Amino acid sequence: MPLAKPHMDLHALRQQFPILAREVHGNPLIYFDNANTAQKPAAAIAAVDDFYRRHNANVARAVHTLSEEATTLYEEARAKVAALIGAASANEVVLTTGTTLAINLVAQGWLRPRLQPGDEIVVSHMEHHANIVPWQLLCAERGAHLKVAPIHDDGTLDLPGLLALLGPRTRLVGLAHVSNVLGSINPVAEVARHTRAAGIPLLVDGSQALPHFPVDVQALGCDFYAFTGHKLFAPTGTGALWGRYELLDAMSPVIGGGEMIESVSFEGTIYAAPPRRFEAGTPNIAGFVGLAAAIDWLRAQDQPALRAHEDALGERLRAGLRGFPGIRFIGEAAQRVSVASFLLEGAHATDLAVLLDLEGIAVRSGQHCAHPLLQRYGVGATLRASLAFYNTADEVDRFLAALEKVRGML
Ligand code: PLP
Repeated sequence: MPLAKPHMDLHALRQQFPILAREVHGNPLIYFDNANTAQKPAAAIAAVDDFYRRHNANVARAVHTLSEEATTLYEEARAKVAALIGAASANEVVLTTGTTLAINLVAQGWLRPRLQPGDEIVVSHMEHHANIVPWQLLCAERGAHLKVAPIHDDGTLDLPGLLALLGPRTRLVGLAHVSNVLGSINPVAEVARHTRAAGIPLLVDGSQALPHFPVDVQALGCDFYAFTGHKLFAPTGTGALWGRYELLDAMSPVIGGGEMIESVSFEGTIYAAPPRRFEAGTPNIAGFVGLAAAIDWLRAQDQPALRAHEDALGERLRAGLRGFPGIRFIGEAAQRVSVASFLLEGAHATDLAVLLDLEGIAVRSGQHCAHPLLQRYGVGATLRASLAFYNTADEVDRFLAALEKVRGML
């Protein structure tokens, strides 16, 4: 099976990501840390550069030309995020610094005023800390309980196990669309059918989904969807919270300051309508201009071809890894993205990562901000190779050869 469809010119595509041409320790860079943060196309880098060279001003504050241009660009970014994820309106999109802030906004703005002692929040065992700790903070403050939906050994969600946790005290379910460690794709639409029937809001952490496949929040049927721009080929410090408008409208402001108000007096302040209610202060305007450019770039690609190429690479990687004696994969769900977390018997993941770096290969080792998940598997660290569509079969083969070499050094 050919790795790339004939109409996908991988060489030309890679040339649009300038960093991929660099060397590390005298070797051509092999960047397999895409789940951590992804590389940026020249179009996104140029958009940030152009913003600072020609349009830089603050948004929504002044009537001068530059400020109007900056505001237009910022609002265009919101509209592009809305179109990307199938939101009913751009007003349902709160621009945030990333997933972490998005989830904390829901925790503090939606749930905090509604949470009573004895109430319950349900998350899965495969969540990133960003979808655990905000709920723990609330539970500690309110005397509520965090319930953990189980997963199977192969890294799939135990759906009946999750559904069994839903009850009259459940106030919210938080679930990753895709696990950053296991790569498993969770059955979000199915979970949403149940949570909607029970009247429980469902927040989906889409950080690891959008970089791999298109998402339509309305088709999914969830209530909140959070994602981060820097994993989506856009600048750091960008991301979004999507929420059904009636939910956003019922949310309390979390961070107070300029831009999130209609009027302020010492007698009382009137807050702005969503999404501005949740965007206090000067945002990362240039970053969102870069996000808009990254979204434009992505949507102009043949996305099914990118996905097919990436999936084939992921399978090539796993097939090669299976040949290593003493390999243990953490996460082998059938429905998954091109992320492989594993351990090699007798070799510490971080030692391997350090030696691989000397070969020019970037991978992540450690607990991947998912301590409870690694505890679930009884391991202290894994090595994670996470691919993107700009990776090549040759890189996979060179990674496998380098892994064999460095393992022999330990
Ligand atoms: N959720 C998942 C599944 C992630 O992989 C990450 C980042 O690693 C996050 C949340 C946090 O994203 P950010 O640090 O951009 O807010």
